[in-house]
Amino acid sequence: MLQFSSSRRYQICNRCLMDTSDPEIAFDEHGNCNHCNRYFVRVDEEVRRGPEAELALEALVERIVKEGKGKDYDCIAGVSGGVDSTFVIYKLKQLGLRPLAVHFDNGWNSELAVANIKNALDRLQIDLHTDVVDWEEFRDLQLSFLKASVPNCEIPTDHAITATLVKTARRNRVRYVVNGSNVVTEGILPISWVYYSHDLHHIRAIHRQFGRVPLKTFPQVSLASFSARILSGSYKMVNLLNYVEYDKAKAVQTMKRELNWQYYGGKHYESIYTRWYQGYYLPTKFGFDKRRAHLSALVCAGQLSREQGIVELVKNPYADNDLDQDMDFVVKKFGLDRGQLQHLIDKPNKKHTDYSNRNNFIEGLSGLRSYLRNRAKSV
Ligand SMILES: [Zn+2]
Repeated sequence: MLQFSSSRRYQICNRCLMDTSDPEIAFDEHGNCNHCNRYFVRVDEEVRRGPEAELALEALVERIVKEGKGKDYDCIAGVSGGVDSTFVIYKLKQLGLRPLAVHFDNGWNSELAVANIKNALDRLQIDLHTDVVDWEEFRDLQLSFLKASVPNCEIPTDHAITATLVKTARRNRVRYVVNGSNVVTEGILPISWVYYSHDLHHIRAIHRQFGRVPLKTFPQVSLASFSARILSGSYKMVNLLNYVEYDKAKAVQTMKRELNWQYYGGKHYESIYTRWYQGYYLPTKFGFDKRRAHLSALVCAGQLSREQGIVELVKNPYADNDLDQDMDFVVKKFGLDRGQLQHLIDKPNKKHTDYSNRNNFIEGLSGLRSYLRNRAKSV
């Protein structure tokens, strides 16, 4: 059911792997797409290299250490058990920082994810704070997104992770929150596929229409409060991997060797829901494959050839996992049967902006942040 892209002639970028499965993709006169063009601008603006990176990182670490004096921890680091966040805590320890690791447990962790988090934190001697979601509430919210028939059904999890980080940072009087987001391996992701997870108004609108269980304990942070914290500097997101040489394959080798970390067979596959959602739900219902964006970023980073990327994309996303087993797990956990789940998949596809949202505000804010960042660089 390729409703978003059916009216457009197929085209794939000459440089990366992005194609018209993003309905909003645009190509320039060389056949390069807006995503890889933007990727290289972002690398220039946000990624630090060589001596400049070392100096900036040194200054950052100094500030974090200084502000952390007398406190139990000097920074907060979200951990999912995945490659990026695990590599971040490994680096933080190398830099001599004292992070508190924070994990949001949404009930979908694979056993391997739990083991990977435990192994890494034990070896690095880092404390862990885990927030476990109320499953009845969370189930209702996740189902609301499936019923709304919008592409990003991971917004409830992503929002709760941010809210949990904000809350934990405030409680520990720490303002540096270090994460694994980075331009080099993640700098391509069409907004039409993901929308914005910090739009609490949007989350509530969808839940109001499709949910039944009141959200009493679900971690939430309003857009106004979050924006105010970011703009005032009382909450500082540090994208650490933009400061270090980040080669994904090398990072995986280091973590296997040093932290006894094991690979999941796909990006974000540490969660069974994410594995099912990215590997089956999105390609089947919406006709796009998030691997296309992830692999495109690696192609632009020079960490993968375009030809290798095409070979990867031809492979079934479920090649290394058992789809039937995951389908049974998802259905059972939601308390549905296969027919009910199929009914949700068959509903007509919607865009996030078909529901009440704060899209304009968020895009204005992101423009403001980029303006402030560039102005700070030029003075
Ligand atoms: Zn491209």
